[in-house]
Amino acid sequence: MNHLKTLSLLLLTALIFSCQEKPETTSETNKDLVEEFDYNVTEFADIGVLRYQIPGWQELSLKQQKLVYYLTQAGLSGRDIIWDQNYRHNLAIRTGLEEIFTTYQGDKNTEEWQQFETYLNRVWFANGIHHHYSMDKMKPEFSKEYFVTLMEDADVTIANDVWQVLFNDQDAKKVVLDKDKDIVLESAVNFYEPGITTDEAKAFYNSIPVDKEKPVEIGLNSRLVRKNGKLMDDVYKSGGLYGKAIDEMIYWLQLAQGVAETPKQEKALGLLIEYYETGSLAKWDEYAIAWSTSTEGAVDWINGFIEVYNDPIAYKGSYETIVQIKDFDMSRQMNVLSENAQWFEDNSPLMEEHKKESVTGVSYKTVNVAGEAGDASPATPIGVNLPNNTWIRTVHGSKSVSLGNIIAAYGNAGSSGRLEEFAHDEREIELEKKYGAKADKLHTALHEVVGHASGQINPGVGTPKETLGSYKSTIEEGRADLFGLYYLMDPKLQELNLVDDWKSYGTAAYDGYIRNGLLSQLVRLELGQDVEEAHMRNRQWVSAWVYEQGMEDNVIEKVVKDGMTYYDIKDYDKLRMLFGELLRETQRITSEGDFAAAQALVENYGVKVDQEIHKEVLNRNSKFKTPAYRGFVNPVIVPTMDGDSISGFTIEQPATFKEQMLMYSKKFGFLD
Ligand code: ZN
Repeated sequence: MNHLKTLSLLLLTALIFSCQEKPETTSETNKDLVEEFDYNVTEFADIGVLRYQIPGWQELSLKQQKLVYYLTQAGLSGRDIIWDQNYRHNLAIRTGLEEIFTTYQGDKNTEEWQQFETYLNRVWFANGIHHHYSMDKMKPEFSKEYFVTLMEDADVTIANDVWQVLFNDQDAKKVVLDKDKDIVLESAVNFYEPGITTDEAKAFYNSIPVDKEKPVEIGLNSRLVRKNGKLMDDVYKSGGLYGKAIDEMIYWLQLAQGVAETPKQEKALGLLIEYYETGSLAKWDEYAIAWSTSTEGAVDWINGFIEVYNDPIAYKGSYETIVQIKDFDMSRQMNVLSENAQWFEDNSPLMEEHKKESVTGVSYKTVNVAGEAGDASPATPIGVNLPNNTWIRTVHGSKSVSLGNIIAAYGNAGSSGRLEEFAHDEREIELEKKYGAKADKLHTALHEVVGHASGQINPGVGTPKETLGSYKSTIEEGRADLFGLYYLMDPKLQELNLVDDWKSYGTAAYDGYIRNGLLSQLVRLELGQDVEEAHMRNRQWVSAWVYEQGMEDNVIEKVVKDGMTYYDIKDYDKLRMLFGELLRETQRITSEGDFAAAQALVENYGVKVDQEIHKEVLNRNSKFKTPAYRGFVNPVIVPTMDGDSISGFTIEQPATFKEQMLMYSKKFGFLD
């Protein structure tokens, strides 16, 4: 709904490539970026754990850094809540497993100990014993007998009926959605006391009167329990359920409020504190309104019981928090492009009648994550669009952001091998390493801010949705890509101080685009599949069209070495002219609503895949393994103390996943 989860690599790709409000990035075009930073922390089972950096941290003032720090501490203080929400025995199980892990003195070189470590890693990653994505209870590979010896040797006591759950059939699924079952009764998730049925829960919430115009999110912040035979909500609040953790959160939120950047932020934080003190859902709405309309400042946050996916009947919000800072680099670029949007329009290769006389840049928002907790960690969304309450969205608006450094980390992790595999020569690899990531970001900015904004429809012609039908998306995405590509090789970018070496940026961008469009993006398809997704299609039809049109002049040469195919760009200036030509044609198709031409372009160049090349690409890619699911450790923000006050911060990257998980349990283990 409003939360874009990176559930799997394939789904991540799908989300990134779907345009409009969802996060979109051309960083996927250069999936094979390389940076010095080591993104990979560890892998186990079907999981890969990565690290991320916090770009822009140094540009924050000390006061802003304090705000970020306090907000991350507030977020982490609620970590135990998600564990308990996910399953009523999760905290007891985690405590037992961690005790065994840290105190067991026996042989740790056995296969069974390795299996125990893997299981603990999986539990940490899922915030409980059910898989974060499939929702199935994860089965330990080690035996029940082995576990009993571990508990005995480490002198650890876990209640019998609790540890037995690891091995028996009880509570097998966190969220049951099977229509033939009683989904509340059979789901293991801890939003409803055991024994409560779907009908009972629904009847309970239906009986609560709500304001039809401005309904609160009923049931959002409570556990439904039975007291003396009567159903009632046990509310998450100070002095109530999860009160110990919530009090810690309030402490940090108050400190954050004291260093808020703007009066609106200060007000929003005040309301959030009152909400946690009272548990009042009306207060939550007041907060959501204040938060939605607080759009100034370099720091922002998400904090609360928010998404309802973990509740089979979608009332209960899972605890989550994300702390974000402005993407300063991207914002600067966007502003420069926006201010010069008319120059780009006037100097583009569009036909005069298709140019806009007055063009305004499109706004686009990326932020960088500084810390996550609860349901947003270790598995994280890549974009967020909140608040969820529909009437607030309609009346007061919403905020939609894509998480830039998270997306970049996904794109960069473990990809150096792919670059070397598919790049034609050393110079191409070198330029990609030096300029690829930045050129890619600039392409995204050009695509979004001036690309989508440019051009106009001829009088009397319908919207592209009406005239181009199912080809509308891929034509529009290709048009925006081409607008960016045309200008990526332009000295104007240097004049505007967007780059320091326009030719190298342009060269890296063109190499990357062609390499991806004709070869490396095929790794996302299974053999025999057509290209379906709009952005993948446009990358292929753009690349294949310029390759074919430039064949006579050898603009792009197809090279086959030892049975492996490469594309080597021979003439960058001519390639730029071809991008310009195709941009003009794509705009003509859009302006005139020429369905037949759109269909011919897409079907002839963007849909079918050369089966021999595809087989070869999949084969060459098979040595690079990517785990099915990925998530992150958080950078650790460490205050430097000057007496009682904070004089600065250092950012430390955790060396291992387990070190961060154990530290979190120790430092933020407020519930039991
Ligand atoms: Zn787009």
